[in-house]
Amino acid sequence: MDLSKAAVLDAIASEVRACKKCGLWRNRKNAVPGEGDPNAKVMFVGEAPGYWEDVKGEPFVGAAGKFLDTLLAEAGLLRSQVFIGNVLKCRPPGNREPAPAEIEACTPFLERQIMAIKPKLVVTLGNYSTAYIFTKAGIPFRGITEARGKFYQANVLGLAVVVFPTLHPAAGLYSAKYKQLLIEDFRLLKAKILDLGLAV
Ligand code: SF4
Repeated sequence: MDLSKAAVLDAIASEVRACKKCGLWRNRKNAVPGEGDPNAKVMFVGEAPGYWEDVKGEPFVGAAGKFLDTLLAEAGLLRSQVFIGNVLKCRPPGNREPAPAEIEACTPFLERQIMAIKPKLVVTLGNYSTAYIFTKAGIPFRGITEARGKFYQANVLGLAVVVFPTLHPAAGLYSAKYKQLLIEDFRLLKAKILDLGLAV
């Protein structure tokens, strides 16, 4: 393991847990800095912690997390091989959508995580993370429905990465159609990982 990367990520996580840069710290039980392999070639970016993530301080636990594990298996991946982070590190009350000021306050943490990990492939889960990464990459964003399921060669924060937007796994829990689209997207992801030589 690259200890310097792990140390940088640990330092960012400590800052996140103490952060009061936006009002979301007031209601959090736990901040959710993100977790995974500091040397991951594939990084996943979600939206924000939900109820169980806030309780446990870990990303993608609960039903959406279980489904994400199933999707990762479709792509030939284990959680331990990837890094999973969110645009917001604290839970918005009632799981409401992130506010622009919260995104502005929180995303420097995500940016530092991306720059430390230096992934080759960034998978964005849902509208907010895709909009954020597309903006950083200078790619026009017209909604996740149009953007999803395609690979974009991009420059994000000075790094050459392939960006792959898909739906948020939670969408697959309430819609059979979205569940199928997610499974199809993660199968495409598997082929791309093999194509890029990123399989572990
Ligand atoms: S959401 Fe981000 S910016 Fe706001 S308090 Fe939590 S860690 Fe800080």
